[in-house]
Formats: sequence, structure tokens, C-alpha cells
Amino acid sequence: MKIRHPEKINKPISPLKKKPDWIRSKLINSQEFFLTKSIVNQYKLKTVCQEANCPNITECWSKRHATFLIMGEICTRACAFCDVTTGKPNKLDPLEPIKISSAIKKLNLKHAVITSVDRDDLDDGGANHFYEVIIETKKNNPKTTIEVLTPDFLRKEDSYKKVVEAKPDVFNHNIETVPGLYRQVRPGSRYFSSLELLKNIKKINKNIFTKSGLMVGLGEIKDEILQVMDDLRSAEVDFLTIGQYLQPSIKHHPLNRYYKLEEFIELEKIAKSKGFLLVSSSPLTRSSYHADEDFAKLKKNRINQTNAQSIS
Ligand code: SF4
Repeated sequence: MKIRHPEKINKPISPLKKKPDWIRSKLINSQEFFLTKSIVNQYKLKTVCQEANCPNITECWSKRHATFLIMGEICTRACAFCDVTTGKPNKLDPLEPIKISSAIKKLNLKHAVITSVDRDDLDDGGANHFYEVIIETKKNNPKTTIEVLTPDFLRKEDSYKKVVEAKPDVFNHNIETVPGLYRQVRPGSRYFSSLELLKNIKKINKNIFTKSGLMVGLGEIKDEILQVMDDLRSAEVDFLTIGQYLQPSIKHHPLNRYYKLEEFIELEKIAKSKGFLLVSSSPLTRSSYHADEDFAKLKKNRINQTNAQSIS
């Protein structure tokens, strides 16, 4: 049997905590869900919805909203929170850009979200493949807006610029946790490199919305969360998502605690006061959750902000 997380075998066992009542995913068993599933299967695509065991899959797929996982389903990193398989990835599929763009067309998506595993084995971290997927998707779906959720391209110099060159509408890179927990939670990543990436995207193209996500419940304290908000604002990040960490197995990073609904509301208020154009904060918020509706809000908020600035 293939072991999904070989790097976690020697980790201590951290028992799973029972979910509170306020963390319940919506179970929607509609025809649309199966239609999404059949299109994903038809093109033999991978989705992060399935690979990361996302709790929102029934709700999202019932709205035909799937987040495509490109460059395979095997990741070169071993983040302690993530359920995606770690190992040696396969070769890139040169037909993937066409498959993704065809599936997006068939799903008739207004807004498509494309993410990938980390590909530290590739010289450019997969930036050129992202570029090709975006360009092909735009060619085949000129009205569809595109959101990418990328790795950090750590030690790949300025390869990320190739992704920016393809002009996605939203460039998302998740900061995931507070800097003090990076060594345990994201051992292969560097907090300040992730911040730098987000800052550089904005420097190159101000029109691209930047977005980042934070999980809570990993053991951070409130002051650390507020510091991350300030750091993201210094990098001019437009949109912040905050969601509850759900421990995938007894070998993953231990869940410290479940945040209450009121705490998510409070964090959203604080983040808004710090100047983000949009904040989504709830137990089941994930970076791609409701991404299409949130993109419409982002555009509206930018127009309102520009109007307000021109009046003052
Ligand atoms: S929240 Fe994102 S990853 Fe989860 S099911 Fe929805 S689209 Fe997929």
C-alpha cells in the first residue's frame, strides 16, 4: 500500500478533537454536484477539494465550483497541517493547460480558481506551467476571470514573474500561520519570503488583486494574528481569508482549539479596520470558498474606494 504521508510516520500521535456544533458543512446532494464530478473525471483532473479532503466539497461542487490542482497531486513539501500527499512528483502533463481550459468551459465558470502542489523539483517551481494554464484558459474562456493560488517559489529567484505576466485577476498566496509556528507547521517555507512574494506581485501590477489566507487553531495567540494582518497590509494585500484549522489525522499538527463564531466575527472586524478591501472570516472559510462571489465584492469595493479617494 502506498503511504500518503511517509514523512509523518515518526510524528507523535495527536488525538483528534470532536468538532463543535458550529462547524458543520452543508450537505447538498444535487445533480450539479455529480455533473462537476463527471467533468473533473472526464478530463482526469485533480482538485484540491478532493486531495485536501475539503469539508466544503458538497456545497462548492453543487455550484460547479471546483478548485483545480495542477502539476499533479504529489507535493514536494511536507507541511504539518496539509493532507495532500508528499513525495516525488510525476512529470508535468503538457496537455494539462488544454484539459483545464476545456473543463472550465464545460463547467461554464465565471470565475476559475487554479492552484498547485509545491514543485521544488522544477527549476522555475512550475511558474511557466501556471503561465500556460492561465493563457490557454483565457484563450478558450475570454469572459472567465482567473484566480491563482500559488506556492511561494522559494529559491526560484524571480520565476513568479512569469505567472504575473499571464495577468491573472487574483493572485493568492497563503501565509497559512503566524511566523512563530512556521518551523513546526510550514517547515519548508519562510514567512518573510511569502510576504515578499505578495509585496512583489503588487509592485509589478497594481491591478491584480492580491489575496492571502490564515488558519487559526494551530496554537497561535491573538497578538500574533494581528501582527500577521499588519504584515499583510504592509505588503498591500487586498483580501484576507481566515478559517479554522481542521486536523486531518492523528499524525498531523495537533489542533490547539476551535475558535468560536464570535471570535471569527471579531477578527473580521479588526482586519477590516486595518484596511483590507475584503475579509472573509468563518470556521469553514478556505481560500477558494465562495471565490466567485468574493471576486465580485472585491471589484465593487475597489471602485467604491477609488471613488471615495477622488472625492476626499
Ligand atoms: S472551499 Fe475550495 S477547496 Fe474546498 S471544496 Fe470549495 S472550492 Fe474546493
